[in-house]
Amino acid sequence: MIKYRLTCKKCNNIFDSWFASSKEFEKLKKLKLINCNKCNSLKIDKSIMSPSVSSNKKINYERNNIKLKHIKSKIKEFQIYIKNNFENVGENFTYEARSIHYGEKESKKGIYGSATSKQIKELKEEGIETALIPWVNEKEN
Ligand SMILES: [Zn+2]
Repeated sequence: MIKYRLTCKKCNNIFDSWFASSKEFEKLKKLKLINCNKCNSLKIDKSIMSPSVSSNKKINYERNNIKLKHIKSKIKEFQIYIKNNFENVGENFTYEARSIHYGEKESKKGIYGSATSKQIKELKEEGIETALIPWVNEKEN
């Protein structure tokens, strides 16, 4: 069995197909039995698949990169939402959270900022619930 990557000259569709041999491929092509799975065009070109470990690794890396980019863009969307709807109190997060919790400060908006895991634990012990949100450095792509 041989796997060919087939390219449709008409619509540029690329698809993979298995053949018993290269001879069989030529035979089927002559008999006009190979057509594009998208537009049914018979103008099909083949290029042999050459799978190798390194190229597979590269593909995996690229896939993961795409996933990561996708996740990052989701986080960024979320960040924009947070920025528009919450007040950034930065390093004063624990102070501000306590002020709101104990009613010293009225806040119509929610707040966000940075806190250490120790600070978050302390807030929790006081009954102040916080939510951890993933954050992407804006300089990153
Ligand atoms: Zn096609």
